Parts: sequence; C-alpha cells; structure tokens
Amino acid sequence: MIALLRDRLITDEKILKAMATVERHLFVPEPFTNRSYEDSALPIGKGQTISQPYTVAFMTQALGVRTGDKILEIGTGSGYQSSVLSVLGARVFSIERDHELLAGARKMFDRLGYRVATKGGDGTVGWNEFAPYNGIIVTAGAPDVPQPLTRQLADGGKLVIPVGSLQYQSLVVITRRGEEMERREIEGFKFVPLIGKMGW
Ligand code: SAH
Repeated sequence: MIALLRDRLITDEKILKAMATVERHLFVPEPFTNRSYEDSALPIGKGQTISQPYTVAFMTQALGVRTGDKILEIGTGSGYQSSVLSVLGARVFSIERDHELLAGARKMFDRLGYRVATKGGDGTVGWNEFAPYNGIIVTAGAPDVPQPLTRQLADGGKLVIPVGSLQYQSLVVITRRGEEMERREIEGFKFVPLIGKMGW
C-alpha cells in the first residue's frame, strides 16, 4: 500500500510511516478485509466507507499536521483516519453521527491505545467546546463549506473538506489568516454525503 502511495506522489515520510504503522485491515470488516491494502475505498457498514488510502494521505498532507496540533475530524467512521492523525502526534477530536460506527471506532481506539476524543452527533456545527483547532478534516462530502467550521479554526489553521454535488466533489483547503480565508481547490474526489444542519 505504501508503494502505491509513493507511486501516486505522496512524499511526506512522516505520513507514509504513520500509515505503515496503523494496520488498516483492523478497520475493514469482512468480507472486504483481504482487500485492506489495495488503494480503494471499502464498505464499513451502514452505507458508509473507509476512505481510499490515497485520499487519507492526500487530505492528511493538505492539513499539514504538526506534533501537538489540535485536530477536529468530522466523520469518524471506522476510526482509521483518526488513528493515522493520532500516530502523527495530533490531539484528535472526532465526531460521528452514526452511533453504531462510533461504538466500533471507540472499541478500536481502546484496543490499540490511541487517545481520540469522540462525540456522537452532527459534526457540521463543529465542536465549539474545544475550539480553536489547528486543523479540521471533513471526511464526507458537503454541498457548501459549513461556516461554523471556519469559525472554529485557529489563526494559520486549515480546513480540508470535500465540496460539490452528491456524485462528485473538489477538495477545498481553507487556511485562516486572521479574518481572511485563503482558499484552494483540488478536483476529482468522491465521498459519502455529509448529512446534517449545514450538510445535505
Ligand atoms: N474517516 C472515516 C471515513 C468514514 S466515511 C474513516 O477513516 O473510516 C464518512 C463518515 O461521516 C460516515 O461514517 C458518516 O456516518 C459520517 N457523517 C456523515 N455526516 C456526518 C455529520 N454531519 N456529522 C458526523 N459524521 C457524519
């Protein structure tokens, strides 16, 4: 899997090392477990998917995580992305709307000893209690950028979020510079929908 990521020009050695450390097969249920190290998204139940490894690497690179950064994730899902962030040394906060998936992810964090703060509910309004964040990563596709999330960014912090239609999204990377929001977009992604007050 790491060789596949290198082929696709993921060059950040810290991210490659973190993704080599977190055993993806533990987050992929049967009957797809044997495909865990392919570069593809796979079903995790409840109509949701664990993101493709390339997407995880790309989004993590776009976040620019440094040790000790406070990172908010929307869409815990299997818990794989949160685990990668945690191994990178981030303090991870993650919100999931599906209680069954959240319970599974929490079990895995406990089993592997990853300290991830989690909460059940609608992540489109963020998690104000622990704001501001150095990074916010949304792992489901939104119709627009939810304003509560940009408001919860620290100065210099980045929001990485897929924005577009239900079928096709661009990855939007917003960097907060004081009250200014710098924005860049990378095309060609496909996520499950972000469902909630500021989502679909
Ligand atoms: N990061 C996950 C990817 C899971 S797919 C992983 O590594 O496995 C996206 C997840 O977002 C799904 O589990 C879905 O239930 C969740 N989701 C969708 N809308 C949400 C919302 N408004 N708040 C929190 N979670 C949401």
